Amino acid sequence: MKPKPEFRSISPDRLVAVTEIDLGALSEIYDETDIYLSIYMRSSSSSDLEASRSFVASRFRVMQKSLPSELQESFRRTASLAQEAIDSSFWKGERSRVIFVSSPESFFHFYRMSLDCEPLVVLDTSPFLLPLARLRDDHEDYGLLLLDSQDARLFIIRSRIMEETNSSSIDLMKKHKKGGWSQMRYNRLRKGAIKSFLTEVAEDVTALESLQSMRGLVLAGPGDAKNQLMELLPQKVREQVIGLLDIPMTTRPSELVKLGEQVALDRERTLSIKRAEELKANVLRGQLYAYGTDSVRDALAQGRVNTLVLLSDYVVPGWICERCQHFQEGDRPEVCAQCGGRTSQVNVLEELYELAQRTGAEVEFVEEDEFLQSIGGVGAILRYLNPIDRQKSS
Ligand SMILES: [Zn+2]
Repeated sequence: MKPKPEFRSISPDRLVAVTEIDLGALSEIYDETDIYLSIYMRSSSSSDLEASRSFVASRFRVMQKSLPSELQESFRRTASLAQEAIDSSFWKGERSRVIFVSSPESFFHFYRMSLDCEPLVVLDTSPFLLPLARLRDDHEDYGLLLLDSQDARLFIIRSRIMEETNSSSIDLMKKHKKGGWSQMRYNRLRKGAIKSFLTEVAEDVTALESLQSMRGLVLAGPGDAKNQLMELLPQKVREQVIGLLDIPMTTRPSELVKLGEQVALDRERTLSIKRAEELKANVLRGQLYAYGTDSVRDALAQGRVNTLVLLSDYVVPGWICERCQHFQEGDRPEVCAQCGGRTSQVNVLEELYELAQRTGAEVEFVEEDEFLQSIGGVGAILRYLNPIDRQKSS
């Protein structure tokens, strides 16, 4: 499908979180010829940028030489459309940039991110999304609440960019009127004040609707306040808590992000191991699974996949028909067996990922898994079908 007019030119004037990039819409886009250039660059310093620029330039030279003559002019235009983004100077906090560009479609997307990526240049029939998809899987947004018994600050962390959304505090000293109070009375009043403060914080957190769409919430701070708060949270929100960090209130923001990131990443690794185990269990039980790129592709096309499970950094060489979009693993034939169309080389996992995006299947990337590797790096957990769906699909 061609890109929609409002989706042709996107280049935000600030760093973007990977969760802001519309992977669904990007995965809809394809053409019959190799007109989409995807560039992933490191850009965390000027020397990083220099190295990336010369890498990209050398990839351009190789591509230019290996392209059939009818595509050379379009590639030259596309590459020059990307040049300004490649050459543009470094922004504070930037670590990588992703550029999707096609001159024939007047298509230009340029994202600067605060996350690291591996350098890559790909010319294909569609934007190459696998590296972004993996980053997204690792860097879902999450909340971090830093609190003690009298201060609370709520942050949302998106791709390592931290935004403070809410803060509240209580001045316990003010409640301590001079004279007359015994230490015991003071302690009792203080305890009551802390509890009502934490109850308010719990209400604020519960009211935060965006938390539902995030990876979860990290509770951080010194002492017992985070455990007390935990008990005041409703069950639904308590389940969203992904970890506790025992750290001082004065922890620097960069350190907070680093520590929070580790908790969030641990949670993601646990989830992906769980998915891989679920796939394995289904295979052993002989139900609701598909593996082998052909079966997984067909299950995706039929909308039967619940979760597509992919091994990170894995490549399955194959080809796609530029006319009918049929793709499969293995050596590239001159022409497509189904329609006689021209073919081009692809990583089959990229095509499976895009198909999953288009058909609404979840995608899980798994770092390392012996079983997943043994079945070719990809598998699918299928949906339960109700009897009506079953009749339709048979
Ligand atoms: Zn074909």
